[in-house]
Amino acid sequence: MSAALPAGPLSIGSTIGIVGGGQLGRMLAMAAARLGYRTVVLEPQADCPAAQVANRQIVAAYDDPAALADLAAGCAVVTYEFENVPVKAAAALAAKVPVLPPPRALEMAQDRLVEKTFLNGIGIATARFHPVNDDAQLGEALAAFGGSGVLKTRRLGYDGKGQRVFRTAEAGGFSGTCEAMGNVPLILEELVPFKREISVIAARGADGAVAAYDPAENVHRDGILRTSTLPATISPRTAAAAHEAARKILEALDYAGVIGVEFFVLADGSLLANEMAPRVHNSGHWTEAACLVSQFEQHIRAVAGLPLGSARRHAGCVMENLIGDDVLRAPALLAEPDVMLHLYGKAEARPGRKMGHFTRIAPR
Ligand code: AMP
Repeated sequence: MSAALPAGPLSIGSTIGIVGGGQLGRMLAMAAARLGYRTVVLEPQADCPAAQVANRQIVAAYDDPAALADLAAGCAVVTYEFENVPVKAAAALAAKVPVLPPPRALEMAQDRLVEKTFLNGIGIATARFHPVNDDAQLGEALAAFGGSGVLKTRRLGYDGKGQRVFRTAEAGGFSGTCEAMGNVPLILEELVPFKREISVIAARGADGAVAAYDPAENVHRDGILRTSTLPATISPRTAAAAHEAARKILEALDYAGVIGVEFFVLADGSLLANEMAPRVHNSGHWTEAACLVSQFEQHIRAVAGLPLGSARRHAGCVMENLIGDDVLRAPALLAEPDVMLHLYGKAEARPGRKMGHFTRIAPR
């Protein structure tokens, strides 16, 4: 049983719960504050990026029953900033307080096999795939794709972690792979010869209205997003297809909140969906600087039952992540006239750690 949604928008001064305390939670809390709401963050790491700007932090594991009860009791609605929120924890919360986006979105996004099956089931094309549980199945699946493919863990993969690429030239040497990947359930995807990668950030409000931002063109390095560029070099038809796919997902899940959907663009302009994130997304950070209503505000509007804002882009831009020591560029970036900088309040700049981002505005 899920707690009923309030009939109208959350009243000013209401409290929104956020499960997860990273930079996405931080930017959600900032957007909530600007709309007059309070926030409570559930996150095991004390003084996390989100807690630094929220009203309160509950320092506990995401599945701690007492902490979940505390969060539910103190909030009018609960949302989340990462897709690996334990489904049981989301269900425990949902029994007491509205949880948005709906926990079913978590179930669809946490397992790549479930996700692709869901997407294909609502008419959205993905790379072909085979579930893989042992080296023999890997051999068969690789043979079906002519010796190449991308092997991924079905669960808990992010930023390219838990992945191995097989190219035809090196086919054959796969024995021991499943053990090296931790003997967890895997999926082999066809190696997609994409021309570019794009993503769409879209929102659905409590009233069913949908607002979708222009697709961003994304460049990854070492599996981590480096830049998102607007406008993407795609045709209006490809952009419309990406928007249509996002709308289908939002409607199929009876969704409220922001979703990020990543796509591969093929040479003929057609799309294959790669993955969806039922939350605000790194490739949507540019909306802070180039739209009147950012993805963070849009998400808060949606979960608070407020009307969605315009997703119109008023400038071209490039968003770049500051990873590890890149954060040392901050003073120089601030000296530039067209740059908006956002740092996440992380004390230590470890390699591969997202420390902040900036968006450089360009003509539309
Ligand atoms: P993911 O964790 O699924 O977002 O994958 C990280 C990155 O690896 C993607 O952004 C692509 O650049 C690349 N990649 C993932 N899956 C495939 C695939 N099936 N074919 C080609 N490249 C892929």
